[in-house]
Amino acid sequence: MKVILVWYRNDLRVHDHPALSTATADADHVVPVFIFKDSLLHGPHSSANRNRFLLECLTDLKQSLQAKGADLVSRQGDAADELIALAKASGATGVYYTADYSPGAIKRDKAVQAALRKEAIEFRSFPGRLIVSNHDKLRTKAGNVHKVFTPFWKNWLQIQRRQLATNPQKLSLPTGVSVGKIPELSTVASDSVLSPYVLPGGETVGRRRLRKFLEGDIKQYKDESNFMAKDSTSRLSAYLHFGCLSALEIETMLPSTVGAQAWGRQLAWRDFYHYILLNFPANTTTEFQERFRALTWSSNEIYLQAWKDGQTGYPIVDAAMRQLRQEGWMHNRARLIVGSFLTKDLWLDWRLGETHFMNLLIDGDEANNNGNWQWIASVGVDPAPVFRRLYNPSSQQTNYDPDGAYVRKYVPELAHVLNKHIPAPWLMTADEQANSDCILGKDYPMPIVDHKQARLDTLDKFRATAPKQ
Ligand SMILES: Cc1cc2nc3c(=O)[nH]c(=O)nc-3n(C[C@H](O)[C@H](O)[C@H](O)COP(=O)(O)OP(=O)(O)OC[C@H]3O[C@@H](n4cnc5c(N)ncnc54)[C@H](O)[C@@H]3O)c2cc1C
Repeated sequence: MKVILVWYRNDLRVHDHPALSTATADADHVVPVFIFKDSLLHGPHSSANRNRFLLECLTDLKQSLQAKGADLVSRQGDAADELIALAKASGATGVYYTADYSPGAIKRDKAVQAALRKEAIEFRSFPGRLIVSNHDKLRTKAGNVHKVFTPFWKNWLQIQRRQLATNPQKLSLPTGVSVGKIPELSTVASDSVLSPYVLPGGETVGRRRLRKFLEGDIKQYKDESNFMAKDSTSRLSAYLHFGCLSALEIETMLPSTVGAQAWGRQLAWRDFYHYILLNFPANTTTEFQERFRALTWSSNEIYLQAWKDGQTGYPIVDAAMRQLRQEGWMHNRARLIVGSFLTKDLWLDWRLGETHFMNLLIDGDEANNNGNWQWIASVGVDPAPVFRRLYNPSSQQTNYDPDGAYVRKYVPELAHVLNKHIPAPWLMTADEQANSDCILGKDYPMPIVDHKQARLDTLDKFRATAPKQ
């Protein structure tokens, strides 16, 4: 009787799951297991809304596995200890898992591998997190690691994809395995911090959302994805982060339309940032571009709090920051605007923004978050001159929320302000403020910084890092 454990982490699905599929083919019994480490639910980056999303993913996965005749075994504690104990209790000779590319996960997996080896338990990794996992094929013509997105993408498009894994129809646990319990939501998040506007987690609901998107909004993705009020992007990021959906399976479902091509390119960005963090793990703490490590960022608490609270006096920034708090999610264009504002207008350290996002986003993902924060702070890979990623919040408002619908949704203080004043409400006269029920400094803040001056200061600071001739 051969028994294999399938160690679930951020691959919470049954479709296109190579580790599960191979374990089913190799063994008589498969034991799917998820291990709760204390820091996962209670650590410095744990977020109530993301915890709830995770528990919903696990409950859904448990039901899918039960429907196939097995179950999801839950354990709490150190991964190596729990895997060894479960292997002994179930008679398992191997542990199969989906490879994860973040520095912390790689370190953990190496430690688990060493511990399992001592017990003669096989520890075998499988692809499944990304579309292209054979990273050695992703190289520049000179054989180096890519640092610029477009050449990476062209190379990535050419790589042969693996076959999708079959979804096992029947599974069975060996007898005598105690299944354990998924923690109750109330033990990991109090009602007071849970938002009713956050998407529900799980493979089932993720696949439903995916199908709806493929039949609808993807058609206009190229033209509409930057308009925040349209809300026409997929909102699949959290399902991808937790692995409820396989990015590769999604790629096989894409129609050959302009919208689908543009959307597929976004999935390549996801692969790109995972590839970058794998190759440059020090990016988690330092700027990728050495030249910019000399920048002395500020940590001004008052500015930081105003940014977090959506009280900067720039409506588009404030709307975005309040969306993040309410929904545990923010539109990509909005992420770019608030990222530019934090780093280039407030001159706050990009790591402060990265941490705040990680604490609130349900899609909070180390590789995507770090890569994008470095990108918008102009210190990371895929470089461009700083002025190209230094956005004027008022122009962004005019271009991407022309009728102010996004701002009004999240900043009710501006509900009656005329469209023409939304990009720069501080220019309203006293009469205009009174007529729109919005007295500046009372109902809504004056801008905390002057964008024009902040822009000049930032350009100077970046210029000062240039090597002396
Ligand atoms: C400062 C900043 C921080 C970010 N932090 C995260 C994060 O923690 N987690 C995260 O998943 N995304 C992050 N992003 C990328 C992007 O904003 C989100 O993936 C996207 O908004 C999610 O919405 P969606 O699923 O509707 O995206 P869609 O537009 O429908 O895109 C489809 C999928 O492609 C991927 N994708 C899209 N844009 C990017 C991108 N720029 N980089 C990497 N992958 C991308 C995501 O998996 C997304 O779900 C960040 C962007 C910025 C500017």
